[in-house]
Amino acid sequence: MVFSSACRSLLRHRQIATSYLSCCRRSICTSAPTEERIEAAGYHVSGGPSFMRGTVFWEPDRPLTIEEFHMPRPKAGELLIKTKACGVCHSDLHVLKGELLFSSPCVLGHEITGEVVEHGAHTDVGITKRFPIGSHVVGAFIMPCGNCFFCVKGQEDLCEAFFAYNRAKGTLYDGQTRLFLRNSGKPVYMYSMGGLAEYCVIPANAVATLPNSLPYTESAILGCAVFTAYGAMRHAAEMRAGDSIAVIGVGGIGAR
Ligand SMILES: [Zn+2]
Ligand SMILES: [Zn+2]
Repeated sequence: MVFSSACRSLLRHRQIATSYLSCCRRSICTSAPTEERIEAAGYHVSGGPSFMRGTVFWEPDRPLTIEEFHMPRPKAGELLIKTKACGVCHSDLHVLKGELLFSSPCVLGHEITGEVVEHGAHTDVGITKRFPIGSHVVGAFIMPCGNCFFCVKGQEDLCEAFFAYNRAKGTLYDGQTRLFLRNSGKPVYMYSMGGLAEYCVIPANAVATLPNSLPYTESAILGCAVFTAYGAMRHAAEMRAGDSIAVIGVGGIGAR
């Protein structure tokens, strides 16, 4: 990437930023012994890097900065993702401009693709088998808890925990962030998974497998712009194949 250039151009226009992670000191292996070793000891002490870089939002109209973080640690039911690409959404721009209040400092970015590099300890075996180490994934900007009133009804877009913890406090559902600055240890909040960083932690409920045939960069917007537009057309407008439509405005969801 393009990591730093993406940050510089963040305020100018929506774009996809792709991260090539030069600090990774080994390649990821999908063999069982390596996977077991990673789960037992954690990615950062199993040959992976101990630190990462991420883009920090401090306050409206102040330039983003690139900071070093301790390698984030996933907890049960969460995955550590090596970020390969992250879109820049209009929601990010609203936060940058102060039009949408959010806890700060924080890492923005919620349209990610990446590679699974670690499962949180005690993660259900069904999750670890579904998303093995090395698998390609795409993240969703709404990260459903899977247990609340709305999630159990299949209305994950209204997840109470997501809005109460992530949107209101910038944390995951234990009320804590996974991001801490390397030098000061200061906590940094997460807008969704905090995708504008070399690695991110995301609840497995918000992850889907990305077929190897789909490219990381172009697929990053699947988890926000694409499913927002698809949901509106499929469920609200009840569009069907063959219908004639007019799209007003430009952009991923017709917003300007
Ligand atoms: Zn978005
Ligand atoms: Zn929920």
